[in-house]
This record gives sequence, structure tokens and C-alpha cells, in this order.
Amino acid sequence: MPFDKPLPAYLSPSKLNDFSACYRKYQYGAIDRIPSKSAYPLVKGRIVHAILEKLFGLVGAERTMEAAQSFIDEAKASELTPDAMSDIGYDKALESVLNKEIRSSLDGYFRLEAPAEVNVKQVEFQMKATIAETPLFGILDRLDEEEDGSLTIVDYKTGKLPRGQYYDKRFDNMEIYAALFKETHQVRPVNIRLIYVEAGHSDMVLVEGKRVDQQIGRAAAAWRLINRFYEEGDFAANPSSACRWCPYTSQCIESGVAVKL
Ligand code: SF4
Repeated sequence: MPFDKPLPAYLSPSKLNDFSACYRKYQYGAIDRIPSKSAYPLVKGRIVHAILEKLFGLVGAERTMEAAQSFIDEAKASELTPDAMSDIGYDKALESVLNKEIRSSLDGYFRLEAPAEVNVKQVEFQMKATIAETPLFGILDRLDEEEDGSLTIVDYKTGKLPRGQYYDKRFDNMEIYAALFKETHQVRPVNIRLIYVEAGHSDMVLVEGKRVDQQIGRAAAAWRLINRFYEEGDFAANPSSACRWCPYTSQCIESGVAVKL
């Protein structure tokens, strides 16, 4: 089956995850560009990210809880579009849940750190570079400078703490971001930090060259396969328990794939 749309110019870590989970999921999202419905956790995550981005747009002393709370309405207004509200079934009950969870996320975040004391260098910035013949793209949540001058790349997580196989893979995407940062800024970040906002928990590791190389190797292998499947016109479906959270189940069912729901 030839594709009438071009291959995306870049591979992002999230699309790499889609490809690793199911080749067909990558095809539907990245090549066919089938719009996917918003899901509640995604919308909530965007709102919390937007609040924290605004908070770090202020000078240190102004980064208070009151300031963070003052950004809630604006962040909700920009993320709760009519389509998003329809997708997630936004009603009074869900509004109450969302408000509670946003407040709980801000409580968790302020329990974890005092944003006034964080030496932030940049927030929400795009990075694009070709590494190992693989065009990579990503948006980094935050870049901090530690007291000793070392740089830390930071990712906010707005879901639950990872468990099982997800725990072991939790730094995989950020190791690609570390390579992207080094390539685009000519400086190697020293640390990777994940902030689990609602849990008020963070995980920090040193950037290890070997692990970064492994993740770049994974991305490069995927990009070679993506190009091959695109030429061949076939991205095979790989039904698994992940079908339950996939936005393309109806397309798969229509094309005869035995999805696992
Ligand atoms: S529904 Fe399942 S098989 Fe179909 S694209 Fe999604 S993950 Fe793949």
C-alpha cells in the first residue's frame, strides 16, 4: 500500500515509543496523521505543564503557590478546547475532578522543591538534530544549572509513578534528549531529572554515555525500519494489551486486525 503523505521529517521520542509498541500505531499517527481523540490524562498533563512553564517565566522570588494558582484558569482555557472537552466528556463532575487533581499536582510539586530557589536556564524549548543518520526532535520541559555549574535536563511527569517494565525504561526518552541537547548546544548535560509532579517525587541520574548511545542506537534502528516499511507500504499491526489505550482501535477493527481490548 503506497502512502500518499510523506514520511515525517523527524522522529520524536514519543513517536519512537509508538513505533516500538506497534508499527501500525506509528503509521496511523505519524504518516496517515489520523487525528487522535484527546484523553483526560493528556489534557490534565498539558494544563499542569502550562502552569509550570508560566511559573518559571517569573523571577525566582515571584514563583509562589499563589502565582501558580493564578495561572490555572488561563492554562485550562487554552487546553480545554471544544474538541478536547467533547473528547474527554467534560462535565461538572469531571471539572471537579480536574480542579482537584490540578491543585493536588501543585501541592505535590511545591512539597518537592521551592521553585524560587531553582536556577532555571530555559523552559519548553525545541531541539532538532540529526544523530547517527537519524533526524531527531524533542521539546524539553526545563534546563537547570546546579550550584557547581553542571546542567540538568528536567522532564515533568503528570501521571503515576512508573512500575514494572516502565520503571526500568523511565530514563530512555531523556537519554535521547541528552544527546539532542549536546548536539544542539555543544555542551553535555550532566544530570537527567524526572519530576513526578503530583507524587512530589523526583528521580535524578548522571547522564551515562553508554546508555545514551544505546538509546540513540534504538532510535536509529527504528528510523531505518520506518524508512523500509514506508517504501514497502506496510507497517504491521502488533495487537497487545496496549490496544486498550490506543486511539486507533476503530481503524484497526475496520481493517480486520484482531485488537486486544
Ligand atoms: S489498536 Fe492495537 S494493533 Fe491497532 S494500532 Fe493500536 S496498538 Fe496497534
